[in-house]
Amino acid sequence: MLAARMHRYKEPLVIEDVEIPEISPEEVLVRVAGAGMCRSDVQLIDGYFAEALKPKLPITLGHEIAGVVAALGDQVPASAQLAVGDQVVVAAGWGDGTCRQCRLGNEQICEHGSWPGFGPPGGYAEFVPAPYRQLIRVKHKVKWEELAPLTDAGVTPYRGIKKLRAAGVLGPDRVIGVLGAGGLGTYAVQYAKLLSSGAAVVALALEEDKLAILKQLGADVTINTTGKSVSDLQDELFKLTGTRNLDAAIDCVGAEETIRTGIGLLATAGAYVSVGLVGTRIDIPLFPFTSRELTYHGSFWANYNDLQEVLALAQKGEIRHSIKRVRLQDINENLELLRAGDIVGRAVVLFDIDGSASESGGRGLRPKTENAAQQ
Ligand SMILES: [Zn+2]
Repeated sequence: MLAARMHRYKEPLVIEDVEIPEISPEEVLVRVAGAGMCRSDVQLIDGYFAEALKPKLPITLGHEIAGVVAALGDQVPASAQLAVGDQVVVAAGWGDGTCRQCRLGNEQICEHGSWPGFGPPGGYAEFVPAPYRQLIRVKHKVKWEELAPLTDAGVTPYRGIKKLRAAGVLGPDRVIGVLGAGGLGTYAVQYAKLLSSGAAVVALALEEDKLAILKQLGADVTINTTGKSVSDLQDELFKLTGTRNLDAAIDCVGAEETIRTGIGLLATAGAYVSVGLVGTRIDIPLFPFTSRELTYHGSFWANYNDLQEVLALAQKGEIRHSIKRVRLQDINENLELLRAGDIVGRAVVLFDIDGSASESGGRGLRPKTENAAQQ
């Protein structure tokens, strides 16, 4: 099969012919139909996770995986209700199943966890093995390019906004800010609408074209933050919403600057959740944080249950997508576009597995071998 693998840090992926992976008795072989491209792939290539994960190279990247069941291990129980040909997505946090967080259902934050595409083989390949317990069957037909990103970009902000909801800062007469207009931001504005019971949704980002898409996807107002101080932004917020502050904010970027700006915009007793991971540190003034009783939540990816909820919304047609379709052979140039922030919405690698993977973009998606043969 063809796979795009990372042999060395800071080098392009190598598209090459490799063996189809063997599956263990409790695994399922998934024929990949769509694999979403995430900025964390660029970070992985750049070595951001090298210390934490120490993956043994080469590895196949790609952690947003949707496809079709191709084969079942001998010990996959009938109760899993999986059959060859089923449309599935792969939930991406694979815990040890024994620790407190796993028992609570939060396998994505298991201390002994792993993530496909960050060590175990990922979805930038025609086939991927996955534990049967991590698959979710999707009964209604959803386009592959819309299904794959739900496993990360389309679920990570969902979990983050659930934390804001649990913090009690959402509701009518509240204002929620969405910082960032990349893949996560396009979904975050929609969940901000769906989960916040009538709060005004304000999208804040640097690029006009991306803000226009967030507006189409449900943001009530948009603010271009380029070159603006917190006080400039407060003035603009006041003009647009009648309030100078945000009751809640979800940070889909996570750069040190967005964190300072976002926290600076919070109302007294406001809540902030970080899902983006561009920067490395949180640097915010302590006294206002404490004296104004702000709260700060980390939210990492999502658990199986969060993904089931998002898939339920998607199957009801309640989630809209902004997708760029990509061929495996074009993966490296698209990783460079991701690095530069030049992908609008989510880029998804598509494999033409049934001739109908994409109604509008199924343009000979099977890669040619002339690229594959390099190196
Ligand atoms: Zn665990």
